[in-house]
Amino acid sequence: TKEDVKSYLFRNAFVLLTVTAVIVGTILGFALRPYRMSYREVKYFSFPGELLMRMLQMLVLPLIISSLVTGMAALDSKASGKMGMRAVVYYMTTTIIAVVIGIIIVIIIHPGKGTKENMHREGKIVRVTAADAFLDLIRYSPTMLIVLFIFKFKTNYEKRSFKVPIQANETLVGAVINNVSEAMETLTRITEELVPVPGSVNGVNALGLVVFSMCFGFVIGNMKEQGQALREFFDSLNEAIMRLVAVIMWYAPVGILFLIAGKIVEMEDMGVIGGQLAMYTVTVIVGLLIHAVIVLPLLYFLVTRKNPWVFIGGLLQALVTALGTSSSSATLPITFKCLEENNGVDKRITRFVLPVGATINMDGTALYEALAAIFIAQVNNFELNFGQIITISITATAASIGAAGIPQAGLVTMVIVLTSVGLPTDDITLIIAVDWFLDRLRTTTNVLGDSLGAGIVEHLSRHELKNRDVEMGNSVIEE
Ligand code: ASP
Repeated sequence: TKEDVKSYLFRNAFVLLTVTAVIVGTILGFALRPYRMSYREVKYFSFPGELLMRMLQMLVLPLIISSLVTGMAALDSKASGKMGMRAVVYYMTTTIIAVVIGIIIVIIIHPGKGTKENMHREGKIVRVTAADAFLDLIRYSPTMLIVLFIFKFKTNYEKRSFKVPIQANETLVGAVINNVSEAMETLTRITEELVPVPGSVNGVNALGLVVFSMCFGFVIGNMKEQGQALREFFDSLNEAIMRLVAVIMWYAPVGILFLIAGKIVEMEDMGVIGGQLAMYTVTVIVGLLIHAVIVLPLLYFLVTRKNPWVFIGGLLQALVTALGTSSSSATLPITFKCLEENNGVDKRITRFVLPVGATINMDGTALYEALAAIFIAQVNNFELNFGQIITISITATAASIGAAGIPQAGLVTMVIVLTSVGLPTDDITLIIAVDWFLDRLRTTTNVLGDSLGAGIVEHLSRHELKNRDVEMGNSVIEE
């Protein structure tokens, strides 16, 4: 029908626009490099991209909460237990495969030939501002839901990050909130001091949030009439967030264009990237490609017997957003849209599997961490024995689970992997120059892994879903 044609065009317009954005962004970035913009100019130039990051970040938290709560509430405990098991088995299997690929590739290609003295050294790790923004967001999370109804737009993270205040930009960019308010900060700090969360860095505890939301959803799912109001509340919150996402999707290509162009404008000269680092970059790309283009699609095909490329085609906008934002958390809203609308994945699956996946399932990061650790061993002429390689694979898996879905989080959790086998953590600085780029690629792989996982879990859970439909008279979740 005419409607179908229209929606078909809409979808392809998205894909076309986003891909164009990447290409134009890259060209524009390289075209503007010779002008050597100042820090301030780069900041202004990247403004539309920064806006996109913030819009997405703003939605992530309520999205995670509402989707997990409604996702859990929509399933009975036996079905959710089974699905949870399947998801966890999928996450573990693919993460371990990724680690193994990383290890094999880096040993075969051996990019770390020579000594590290040949390598360009850079300063120490700098805090990433986008990461800051996300940390803030999570930190203010407990009160986020309440305050969604209070309009107090205030931002304070720029002040901390930049020495020179960039007034106009700050005010403009501050019009899109990424955290809720200073008053809430105080409130949260008091809560944190009263109830310190072990294992949380700076009060960030995404995993804790995931677990809490799941428990909460589970409980209200079992509350019969008494839980009705809450179920409806979270359902409608989720729906509202998704509508905001639909709006943001139209802005996404613009944001992505400037995110990419801005990054290319400000990156270091490629001239300083020496032979080993270049080989290292190639090795990471090869490893990620093997995992993303061969292993994951093959696994999807083997389990579902459906064409993985059709599925991946529907995901394109999420993948490009991951590339642009280098954050799987920030990409989450788009991932939801793509999976539910383009690929028709059951909402009971996406709501349940995607937030968890974005938090703990990071194939690209796992592959990267194992590979990078062995690369650092190579440039130090440090012979790793078999036991140490096993240690690296275990810690790389753990480090990928622990890494938050924010830009360059994997670089920070690298420390776990390096110290486990006695490699110098200072050497993380050796790979910083290319990390912004590799981060984008591994984030894309992470998002791909989560999405194909949702497709696989849906396929494996089709009987439970059907039984549940029959049981509920097919009226729980309407498409
Ligand atoms: N940026 C990655 C992500 O969001 C995490 C990483 O640094 O590896 O998925």
